[in-house]
Amino acid sequence: MSGSVIKLQTPRTVSLAEERAEMLSARYADADALDILYAALREEFPGEIALVSSFGAESAVLLHLAAQVAPDVPVVFLETGKHFAQTLSYRKKLSTQLGLTNVQEIKPVKAEVAEEDPDGDLWRKNPDACCTLRKVRPLDSALSNYEAWITGRKQFHGGARVRLPAFEYAGKHFKVNPIVSWTPDRVDAYFREHDLPSHPLVAQGFPSIGCWPCTHPVADGEDVRSGRWRGQAKTECGIHGKG
Ligand code: SF4
Repeated sequence: MSGSVIKLQTPRTVSLAEERAEMLSARYADADALDILYAALREEFPGEIALVSSFGAESAVLLHLAAQVAPDVPVVFLETGKHFAQTLSYRKKLSTQLGLTNVQEIKPVKAEVAEEDPDGDLWRKNPDACCTLRKVRPLDSALSNYEAWITGRKQFHGGARVRLPAFEYAGKHFKVNPIVSWTPDRVDAYFREHDLPSHPLVAQGFPSIGCWPCTHPVADGEDVRSGRWRGQAKTECGIHGKG
């Protein structure tokens, strides 16, 4: 036996949920966003699905599409306490204009903020911990009764998003990405076709908008999300890490 090596292969474990997500992504590979939303909201996860929106630069597109299928879809907005005032007023204006009837403002737990970020500057000292406190845990709690959620992520955002499918399973929830393959031109055209209002900061050079301490304007030619956590290795807030 000396010298012989038995190689044990570790079989890839694919859960039924992952198989379902792959099957749905294949079935809807060439479908348009409205068909994907109809499938998600009406057929696959009726009553068990929410849409998560930051009411940022491109959010109006997904919200407008979703409002055509289910204006009463629960729309989760994470009110971190660090948004630009323009985002808060845009949220109200857009929700009213689109007829969305179930926009929910989700805040971090007050006692946790007092304990973990008493001076309100955790974003400067430890942005990952700040995002966990103000985004990840509140979203986790808000989605605890749902089987799936809808996101507005797109492949052109770059980074880990370039390989995103339309449906995925992320350990706790299904995630549905109806406009994942849309290009910037298509997003712009949709805004024009439907006369959607722009976030007020887009005209000031913000193509991606999050909390004010962690969002900066972007120069022509830079990646859309390059103004988020500028100068840091951090590129995502963490809500897409495991949910
Ligand atoms: S984006 Fe910045 S301010 Fe907002 S939760 Fe994350 S670290 Fe905190």
